[in-house]
Formats: sequence, C-alpha cells, structure tokens
Amino acid sequence: MSIADPSRLETVRYEQIGAVARILHNRPAARNAESRQLLDELDQAVRHAEADDSVRVLILGGVGDHFSAGHDLKEAQASRANFTVEERWEYESLRYFDYCLRIWDLKKPSIAQVQGACVAGGFMVANSCDLMVAADDAFFSDPVCHTLATASVELLIHPWVMGLRQAKYFLYTGNRVDAREALSMGMVNKVVPRAELEAETLALAQRIAQAPPFALGLLKRSLNRTFDVQGMRHAVQAHFETHQLSHLTQEFGRIREQGLASAISRASKA
Ligand code: ZN
Repeated sequence: MSIADPSRLETVRYEQIGAVARILHNRPAARNAESRQLLDELDQAVRHAEADDSVRVLILGGVGDHFSAGHDLKEAQASRANFTVEERWEYESLRYFDYCLRIWDLKKPSIAQVQGACVAGGFMVANSCDLMVAADDAFFSDPVCHTLATASVELLIHPWVMGLRQAKYFLYTGNRVDAREALSMGMVNKVVPRAELEAETLALAQRIAQAPPFALGLLKRSLNRTFDVQGMRHAVQAHFETHQLSHLTQEFGRIREQGLASAISRASKA
C-alpha cells in the first residue's frame, strides 16, 4: 500500500512542527470514534511519519475535547454486525491489532497526548505509544467486558502498561480511571492542565528529538525487547485469538441483537 499525502487525510490531522509529527484523530463531533476510514488514515499518517527522515518523534492525539471514545460502534453495527468469523478476523487483525503494534514497533519514539475520553479502542492506540502526557481532564476505561461481553479489546496491552494487578482491577470493574490515578499507576508520565497539554507534549517531543536518531531507535528497540523476552508478543497474539472467541458467544450475541451502540450508552448511563 502506498503512503497517502497526509494533507489529504479527512479524519486525521497531520502536522509537522520542526522534527515532530503531530497526528490527531479528527472526528471531534463523534468524540473521535475510530471508524474504518479513521483507522486506515491514522495508519497512513503513522507510516508517513516513520518514512519521513525529517521526523524524529511522533505525537498521537485528538482534535477537540477527547482523545478517542473508541471504535465506532454505530458503524460496526451497521456494516459489521453479521461478519463471519473469517471477515471479523481479517478486519480486526489488521485494524485493531497490526495497526497498534505498528505504533509500538516504530523505530521513532511516540507520545500519546490525551485529553477527555481515552476509552477501549482509543485506550489501546494511546497505550501503543512509548510515553503518555495527560491533561487533568483525561479519563481512561475499558468497559467492554461489561458492556459488550467481549474479552477486553483486541490488544491486551493493559498489564504491560499498568501492571497485572492494576489491569485486573481496571478490566474487571470497567471503571474510569482519571489522569491522577493513571499517573500513580505508572501508565501516564505527566499530568498537565488542559490548556497546557499541546505545549507540554510538544516540549517533551522536542527534547527527545534532540537525541541522535539512530541511537534513540536502538534504545527503543532494546527497551521494547525487555517486554518481548517476557513474552509480550506471544501474550497479546494469544489474547487476540481469545478475543475473537468472545465475539462468538451467546453472551455477545444477545448484546449484538440489542445493538452494540445502545449497549454502550445504557452502560454509560448506569
Ligand atoms: Zn473485537
């Protein structure tokens, strides 16, 4: 697949500030819900930044009040509710699993810039970045076991970024964690006032961009291998397959019949 001109992306905003590429979910009216188009364009933007020698650090964020409320469940209900096992596997392995691991595996460092909702599918994209700066209004959750009867989201990155005991609490309850709690869990590097989020994240990116890029890439490679030797890659691959099984249960089927999006809205009002 060729890499699109990032200025032509419709649901993703791509900006370059010096050596920093800033890539933003850009569907603010839909709380930056990740539609098929948005995820494809986000991946295009990420690959463009990786290939562009003038970019040394990536920032991933969202336009408007939220990072992202997660996968676009209205679109999922309309176009993917009757997916076969094979179709769902293809769709989710590419867009929900491979795209996230591409961010994780970038040779260049990445920073998630998070305000407002960072939920479910949005949570796994943000946590695929190396670092995270959160605004004081940011909140995180992965409620989908409760709301959709799936085994979490497709990329079970949670225990790797917050620790196993915290991940169990987070996922078993489906409760929201705010920015301060996320900081104390070790998942967030820094919490800043909402008005300073963009400037603080950019300053961090520019500091990192001063390092010699090849050495920085090697350093990232070694740090990520710390998790690889503990089995991260096998664990997340195995979870992806378990997650696919959870799409085939009677529990999931009952919720799908009631409507995926309405299941979420019922849960958020509960
Ligand atoms: Zn899924």
